[in-house]
Amino acid sequence: MEEIFTAWNIQNGGKRRAAIWLHINIVYKIWYWYTQAWWENNNMREEVVKRVAKARLRKSFMVLNKTLNNCFRCYLCPNKLYKNQQGLSCHASIVHYNYNIPTKHITPLPQEALDEFKNILIYTIQKQLKNNIKNIGLQSVKFPCLESLFVGVFGNYLTRYSPSRKWYQCIFKGENAVELVGQILERTNWSVRCYLYGQQTNVILFSSNSAINELKKNKCKKQKPIELCIEWEQYMIKDATNQISIAGYIMMHFFIEQIYFG
Ligand SMILES: [Zn+2]
Repeated sequence: MEEIFTAWNIQNGGKRRAAIWLHINIVYKIWYWYTQAWWENNNMREEVVKRVAKARLRKSFMVLNKTLNNCFRCYLCPNKLYKNQQGLSCHASIVHYNYNIPTKHITPLPQEALDEFKNILIYTIQKQLKNNIKNIGLQSVKFPCLESLFVGVFGNYLTRYSPSRKWYQCIFKGENAVELVGQILERTNWSVRCYLYGQQTNVILFSSNSAINELKKNKCKKQKPIELCIEWEQYMIKDATNQISIAGYIMMHFFIEQIYFG
C-alpha cells in the first residue's frame, strides 16, 4: 500500500509524481465501483469491468501526457518541471549560471568548413569597422548559423550554455582577449581595419582610457560592457496547425573606436 502512494521504486521525480497520480486515480476508481456494487447490489460482469477499467486508464494516460507535454523541463535537472518558460529561465540563470558544456549530439564538421566559417566571422567583423566617425560605438551583427559551426569554433571557450533555451554565450574581454580571439580565428589582426592617411578602426576588448574617452566623446549612451559577446540561439515558429520551423542564429556585439596616426 505504501508503494502505491510513494512510488519509491521510480527514481525520476517527474515520473514518480505521475505514477502516484495514476495510482491514486485507479485506487479511487476501484473504490467507486466497489461501493457502487455494495450499496446498489449492482454486480458488474468481469468483462464489463475490464472494458471500463481499460477505457478509464486510457483517458487518465491522455490527461497525464497532456499535462507533462505542457510543462517546461530543465534538461540538467530532470526532476524540475515548470509551468512556463519564465520559471525555467529563472531556475537556469540561478542554478546553471556557469554551465558551459556543449551538447554531445553535434556532428563534428570538417576543418575546411570551420576555416571557412572563421573567414566569414572575420569578414563580418571587418565590414563593421567603417571609416566613419558616426559608426563608432556598439556594433551588433546577427545572421543564420549552424549550431555545429558555432560549437566547432567556440565550443572550448563557452561562458555559458543553456540546453533548455538552446543558447550559447562566449565573452571575450580584458588585455589578452584580442590575442585569444586571434588564435581562435587564426588571424592576428582580425580586430583592426586600416585606411589611408594613418587612419584605422579597431574592435575594443579592453577599457583603456583612450577607448572610454572616445566613446564618451561620441555620446554613446549604451551601458554595455567593453567586450566581444558572441551568442548562438535557436528560434522557433509554431503556427496554428502546430507546424514547427526552426533556425539557429549567431549574434555578435562589440565596441569599435577610431585611431589616427598623424
Ligand atoms: Zn536545472
